[in-house]
Amino acid sequence: MDKYRDPRDAVEIIDKFKTLPTIGDVKLFADEIFPGWFISSINEYCSDYPYLTDNWKTVCSLTGSKKAQIIIVDDIIDDQDHTIIKMFAECFTLSGFNVRTKNDYFECSNCGRAIPSFKLWETFKEKKFNVPETWAPTCKNCL
Ligand SMILES: [Zn+2]
Repeated sequence: MDKYRDPRDAVEIIDKFKTLPTIGDVKLFADEIFPGWFISSINEYCSDYPYLTDNWKTVCSLTGSKKAQIIIVDDIIDDQDHTIIKMFAECFTLSGFNVRTKNDYFECSNCGRAIPSFKLWETFKEKKFNVPETWAPTCKNCL
């Protein structure tokens, strides 16, 4: 995913980033530097996955932030060549947002809440997390 590799003017980007007053400004700046990275925002997780919300609340209490929204982005790459994109993701996380990738989460077609992909559900199940017995693309009881 080279489109999210640190640009050559990374230092200038970091300097400007530090001057941004609000999370809304950070979002606009992210759109400018990495167009198409930010895809959508979702208010809640599907209630069939309560521990996703619990984890989110834990992150918020650790960072002293309030639960804001789930942000769906194109990709998150965690290595030395992608520090700028990581800086944006961390900034949102510190502000109470839960940053997720489009491959891992999508919206329930009935209610719009965030549901993990089949692949992620399988991973959760392997780890013996409390998840539904069978995967479904919609919530059990949202209608
Ligand atoms: Zn639903």
